Amino acid sequence: MGWYEDSKSVLEFIQKSDNIDLVKKMLDIQKQSMDLLEENRKLKENVKELEGKLKFKGKLIHRNNAYWFEEAGRQVPICTGCWDANSHQIRLKDFENGFAECPICKNTFEIAPSKGY
Ligand SMILES: [Zn+2]
Repeated sequence: MGWYEDSKSVLEFIQKSDNIDLVKKMLDIQKQSMDLLEENRKLKENVKELEGKLKFKGKLIHRNNAYWFEEAGRQVPICTGCWDANSHQIRLKDFENGFAECPICKNTFEIAPSKGY
């Protein structure tokens, strides 16, 4: 039997005592337990997300003022400003004449194709 089933059994037992204050206290404890469960679930999600970002960060290489990572055998640049400020993986667009732009913050980057992207 889990904690929720146990607390339901205790509540049913308390309800039989006709002690309203005790019933209210038990209902309050149940609500606090549910809130803690929800908080725990959110914290686990945050940890998972941060672990993913940390793993991704370990793959980044700083070159030509951008961060690069390998995807399907190809080097992909992302915006250093967006990554450093918010850990957002924003791919750079418009590779022309060795320049690229972040579609979010609009920073431009000189990325010389001859340097091997
Ligand atoms: Zn950006």
